[in-house]
Parts: sequence; structure tokens; C-alpha cells
Amino acid sequence: MDFTELFQQLRCPDEHHAELAYDAAAQTLTCTVCRRVFRIEDNVPVLLLDEAQTA
Ligand SMILES: [Zn+2]
Repeated sequence: MDFTELFQQLRCPDEHHAELAYDAAAQTLTCTVCRRVFRIEDNVPVLLLDEAQTA
């Protein structure tokens, strides 16, 4: 199953709800506004601000 389209519809959990850039190789979603990096574990994006890494 291809999750790419699904991941591309996700939005940042922060107040700006910006688009996320999906990195298939790294299995991460990077916010286009705050640049937080959310990891994807077993095809489940971890969209938690506390878990995000800042680039
Ligand atoms: Zn953001």
C-alpha cells in the first residue's frame, strides 16, 4: 500500500497547521513552516509536538 498521498494530506499539529513535506527515504514528515521533523514508525506518523525534532 502506498501511503504517500495520505502522508501528504497531513498537517502540522501546531497552531499554523501547515503542510508537511514527506521524505520517503528518511520516513519523516517535515513542517514547511516551523521545520519540525516528525518521524514515521511502521507507517504511522508521530504527529506530536513533544516528539518532534527541530531541524
Ligand atoms: Zn509546523
